[in-house]
Amino acid sequence: MTSVAILPGDGIGPEIVHEAKRVLDAVNTRYTLGITTSEHLFGGTAYDAHDTPLPDSTLQACREADAILMGSVGGPVYDKAPRELRPERGLLRLRSELDLFANLRPAMLFSELANASSLKPELVAGLDMMILRELTSGLYFGEPRGIELRDGVRTGFNTMVYSEPEIERIAVRGFEIAMQRGKRLCSVDKMNVLEVSELWREVVERVGESYPDVELSHMYVDNAAMQLVRAPKQFDVIVTGNIFGDILSDAAAMLTGSIGMLPSASLDAAGKGLYEPVHGSAPDIAGQGIANPLATILSVSMMLRYSLKQADAANAIDAAVSSVLSSGLRCRDITGDVDDKNLSVVGTSGMGDAVLDALNHVA
Ligand code: NAD
Repeated sequence: MTSVAILPGDGIGPEIVHEAKRVLDAVNTRYTLGITTSEHLFGGTAYDAHDTPLPDSTLQACREADAILMGSVGGPVYDKAPRELRPERGLLRLRSELDLFANLRPAMLFSELANASSLKPELVAGLDMMILRELTSGLYFGEPRGIELRDGVRTGFNTMVYSEPEIERIAVRGFEIAMQRGKRLCSVDKMNVLEVSELWREVVERVGESYPDVELSHMYVDNAAMQLVRAPKQFDVIVTGNIFGDILSDAAAMLTGSIGMLPSASLDAAGKGLYEPVHGSAPDIAGQGIANPLATILSVSMMLRYSLKQADAANAIDAAVSSVLSSGLRCRDITGDVDDKNLSVVGTSGMGDAVLDALNHVA
């Protein structure tokens, strides 16, 4: 039996997760995947009920599950809660309790939405790349750090640090993901300037010896930033450290121009993961039935591919989403050219219905 813990969360979370669960149930039946699901309070709703955003029972359920599907957490109503008890803190704690060190951010652009990008459609149509960012070490966590007086001058400092095991485990995830995709991995560093990058490159190359089928390349981070906006379709999988990944993944996400479409994942060393849309709880549209559920539905597809190893079911969901977009259906956030007479706007459940219907027609 495979178990999935579902955390609907706050704001539009329950609405979009409801549609994603319908899609998960449909592929579960169609491909006899034997998945069981359970729902748990998390974020603001958990704080309301139990005075904590991450109740012990929710954490325990997430520990026991093979994968976790989350909607989104947070909202202005919780801004007055003590900092330690805010919904977003619950998410940070969940990631750290489960040691989810590998952050996967795909940047993909269905051809039908190419006009939503700030780049020329031909540069981004059909874009399908993955950025793998190390999430728990590097410049954001390195010691020593601080602000101090040095010879009478106030000086701020941080330390960029990676140990061999930390590089090795993120590199392994990078190669594993490349094996499930186009078998090309680009490691991004700054080896010409940083010693930490020298070690990074050495370890990535050593790990690569165990993956002869994956074509490994290296790129300096400044060049990678340039290439992302010049010719993003050259990339399959990028693996990089915390700060470089933070910046590159946001740039790559914006190539697609539609936040309601982007899924993400955070994985541990065994490949277990927390899957969630990139966007937040959108309190401005919560309860109106207009939130786009596709980022969450595509998070289900990622979960099937990367944690549950069910590529056929994942491919079917991707194909169903693509076919729905081809048919001209859009949620309000991805209408782009509103005058286009070939497009029809649907709400959250309308989009869920359309994906379910399309699933029945994909091979
Ligand atoms: P947001 O992503 O929630 O919303 C930004 C804009 O995008 C809003 O106009 C919203 O209506 C729109 N939007 C987002 N998702 C959409 C969807 N699926 N369909 C249609 N439109 C969509 O970002 P924000 O407003 O900065 O944050 C709102 C709350 O979400 C905050 O409390 C923040 O802390 C939280 N947040 C949570 C997560 C998470 O749970 N991982 C991530 C980011 C923000």
